[in-house]
Amino acid sequence: RAKKHLGQHFLTDENIAKNIVEGLSYENYNNVMEVGPGMGVLTKYLLEKDQNIYLAEIDTESIDYLKKNYAKTNEETFVGDFLKQDFSFIDGEEIAIIGNFPYNISSQILFKIIDHYEIIPEMVGMFQKEVAERTAAVPRTKDYGILSVLVQAYYDVKYLFTVHENVFNPPPKVKSGVIKLTRNPKEGLAGNEVLFKQIIKAGFGQRRKKLSNSWKVLNIPEALKTHEFMDKRAEELSVEDFIHFTQLWKENQ
Ligand code: SAM
Repeated sequence: RAKKHLGQHFLTDENIAKNIVEGLSYENYNNVMEVGPGMGVLTKYLLEKDQNIYLAEIDTESIDYLKKNYAKTNEETFVGDFLKQDFSFIDGEEIAIIGNFPYNISSQILFKIIDHYEIIPEMVGMFQKEVAERTAAVPRTKDYGILSVLVQAYYDVKYLFTVHENVFNPPPKVKSGVIKLTRNPKEGLAGNEVLFKQIIKAGFGQRRKKLSNSWKVLNIPEALKTHEFMDKRAEELSVEDFIHFTQLWKENQ
């Protein structure tokens, strides 16, 4: 019995489960955390790996089931709500993230990963297709926006494959997409993160308008009011453009 408020849709296709688990490289890190293991369709393949496996799950029924059926799990395996993790238990080591995520908290999961990019080298996960596409989108497309720029500032994003509704129980309303993130933080971000977020949020806030207009809600530095970007729309700027412009903005504040 799936619990709707927990975003529960259980994957029933073993090959897709294997493909998701094989999406991570299992190189250069000792730890992997699965978000929302549910009844363990990914977990059983994950537990065959050499890494320490941590399971973030909030459904006690799932946890009891996993404890009973997977001998390799123990008390330390279960770490509770993913959004509340501080990862202190890995003592500064790195940890990869994997999951068939609960779609009601997709963006929060991505933001959590970005917030901890220093210890998260890789992620492979399933989102609703639209979120997967927005995360992987390139400039000058309708999907390119805040989520694309924010995630791609820290990670290379690869769209792996699409998953049909009918391989879930119960089937979700929409198709799903599996993506892989590989850490690659762009230069020039460090120390400028807050301003960077403000600039992209305001920029895409009114995505049909020129940036001279969208950025009015911020205090545009005088020296940048004639910058060539002012005549463009947010979707025309690359991730590197946004980072470079953030640095300029800071220097001219
Ligand atoms: N991995 C299983 C599968 O593929 O069949 C279940 C996937 S289901 C889409 C999402 C899972 O995330 C559910 O088991 C749900 O209980 C769990 N979940 C929901 N919110 C969570 C949270 N904040 N932290 C960790 N797990 C959560």
